[in-house]
Amino acid sequence: MKKRNLIKSILALVLALIMALCLISCQTDTPAVTPTNAPVEDPTESPTEAPTAEPVVPMEEILAALANLQYGEVKNVILYIGDGMGENHVPATDAITGGRYNGKLALEYLPNTAVVKTDCTEGEPDSASGGTALSTGYKGKRKQLGLNNAGVEVQNVVELANSLGKSTGAITTESIVDATPAAFTIHAKNRNDESKIAQLQIETSVADIIMGGGKAMYDKLFAEQDYTEYFKEHNITYTNSWADVLAWNGQGRLIAPMVEDYWFYDKDYWSENPDKDTLLATDTEKDSTLAECSLADMTQKAIDILSQNEKGFFLMVEGGALDEVAHNTDLMELTRHMTAFDKAIEVGLRYAYEHKDTIIIVTADHNTGALKDKETADTYITKHSKDNYISNDQYCWESTGIHCVLEGERIAQAKNPGVDLSTLPYRFTTIAHTTDKVNVWAVGPGTDELMTTEKLASFHIGKFIGKALSGEEFGSTDAKGIK
Ligand SMILES: [Zn+2]
Repeated sequence: MKKRNLIKSILALVLALIMALCLISCQTDTPAVTPTNAPVEDPTESPTEAPTAEPVVPMEEILAALANLQYGEVKNVILYIGDGMGENHVPATDAITGGRYNGKLALEYLPNTAVVKTDCTEGEPDSASGGTALSTGYKGKRKQLGLNNAGVEVQNVVELANSLGKSTGAITTESIVDATPAAFTIHAKNRNDESKIAQLQIETSVADIIMGGGKAMYDKLFAEQDYTEYFKEHNITYTNSWADVLAWNGQGRLIAPMVEDYWFYDKDYWSENPDKDTLLATDTEKDSTLAECSLADMTQKAIDILSQNEKGFFLMVEGGALDEVAHNTDLMELTRHMTAFDKAIEVGLRYAYEHKDTIIIVTADHNTGALKDKETADTYITKHSKDNYISNDQYCWESTGIHCVLEGERIAQAKNPGVDLSTLPYRFTTIAHTTDKVNVWAVGPGTDELMTTEKLASFHIGKFIGKALSGEEFGSTDAKGIK
């Protein structure tokens, strides 16, 4: 009894102390009503960092669990496309950055994996044919968006999901009128007609969210036509501001190109680099504005909105700028964009872990730059560099000789003075696209069988996504993916 009384007294004392402390802190607290002139929340801050009462499962635990997730019926599909992400992009990033989870990227923990053929009906693929194969389940020609080999419009997975009552989105660190997001949102004969693509995205696309870069291409369209009334009539929120995107409540459609062209510089790395003004000023031809948001930020916002639909959603997330930095043979920038891409994948993996009705697929539309381990690359470059080194940017737009690789490396070295690029364990061997195979990683029902597909090609992945969403056959019906 005595002991119990003593405990009671101690508890009462502790309680009194807590109440007293609370009273003091309440008195010194700021008023509950926020004054109107209070600073607004920093829009560049990741929405994932919002305080939450739920305990957050560590990413390591989620990655370890991926191989044994128990699934229900499929409701959502998130497709991640690393533009130009060849077979050595991942090992090179691991080797140079040390990886993110035990020496690896998060995407490497997806349990089902295979290699994928990406060639189009004309051989070496571009992002139009690569994107179309993934979005429609058809193998087609270069430059064509959402058309089969015969040039006929075919349904894409965004339109399919929309017809099933699901919500849809396409987001990228590229311009939103660039070939990959365009292949998921519109149909057109020529990927180069970018104002036309902007017009079609406004007037014909059913995608609820189209978000990324490409403000300059939309401005070009707006110089010819005023869409103010059209946007109001059709409940389209058009904005160039990340703060507006964060504030968007999901009503109607969202079209948000937030940088002039694309994420030329990785936002996370450069925004914290004290020398950025000096180093980035060397590249005068490109838009040097740093984006206000990362691919992971956009992915989180898109999932937050799309997942409100109880029928589910389809989302395409493209590491679009990966292709640009590979064309520039800037290996350090590539590893930064690969890390940013992986962070966006992590957002989807966390969602899939918490909602076991979500398939995640990560792949590429083609290989850009034919990244090789240094020894192999050096041998290749020495053998093929018969032509003299020409320091001529313009020439490299029209040609893909070894001298262009060397010129790209020279520019990249100037941007990365802290690293001797010649000591890196990998090196690009071209500034062009190649027909080399790429990888696919996935988690979710049926993705293990997808990996066993004979001569697995990009169009098989498009067909798989369509079937996963609808339960019906989707895309091409012949073995070659053409008809
Ligand atoms: Zn490219």
